[in-house]
Amino acid sequence: MTKYLRKCTVCGKYTILKEICPYCSNPTRIPHPAKFSLTDNYGVYRRKLKRIEEKSS
Ligand SMILES: [Zn+2]
Repeated sequence: MTKYLRKCTVCGKYTILKEICPYCSNPTRIPHPAKFSLTDNYGVYRRKLKRIEEKSS
């Protein structure tokens, strides 16, 4: 259930499944973005690897 919970970035109210806040029409986000930061980490590693490859060539 909590994975559907989203929080408004502006008024801080919680909503379920809505990407736009029903109170103030601003975008909402997932309050605990653990899985999303994982994909960000992979992007960081990929960029680091690319930089190393550029240096060695
Ligand atoms: Zn709001």
